[in-house]
Amino acid sequence: MATLSAIKDVLSSFMLAELIKGMAVTGRHFLKPHITIEYPEEKTPLSPRFRGLHALRRYENGEERCIACKLCEAVCPALAITIESAQRADGTRRTTRYDIDFAKCIYCGFCEESCPVDSIVETHFFEYHGEKRGDLYFTKDMLLAVGDRYEKEIAERRAADAPYR
Ligand code: SF4
Ligand code: SF4
Repeated sequence: MATLSAIKDVLSSFMLAELIKGMAVTGRHFLKPHITIEYPEEKTPLSPRFRGLHALRRYENGEERCIACKLCEAVCPALAITIESAQRADGTRRTTRYDIDFAKCIYCGFCEESCPVDSIVETHFFEYHGEKRGDLYFTKDMLLAVGDRYEKEIAERRAADAPYR
């Protein structure tokens, strides 16, 4: 029995049966519409509720929104946010340090939900990466820079989401 099976295997190999089967599958699907995309040139649509890279926002006059209440730091289940603050000469409180370690972040959105002044938000941007330890550690300046870059999109999304919040 084992000999018969071995002979069949040898014959199958000589006749390139597996290759022909594979080519038949390719031929069957060749003219069908593609279900894959050519990323990064093409992209799939994102959900309006997608949570990507975080940003710290400013008001239109350039003043940072964050009032250093630390609610986001307290609510973060991954302990990814680190805040330090101080009082300014005008009596207002602002952060002197606002860091997020994206190696810890689980993109739950709790920070965004907890913020009373719409300061910390999550953008639609997801095409970022780190190549070494620390690359995903974002400081306040980096988060504000993300906010400055994506403010138009963030404001539009917040306005569209307003009825659901
Ligand atoms: S999305 Fe969640 S895990 Fe990430 S920083 Fe915000 S609260 Fe923390
Ligand atoms: S980002 Fe919002 S929740 Fe976090 S400390 Fe600033 S004001 Fe408070």
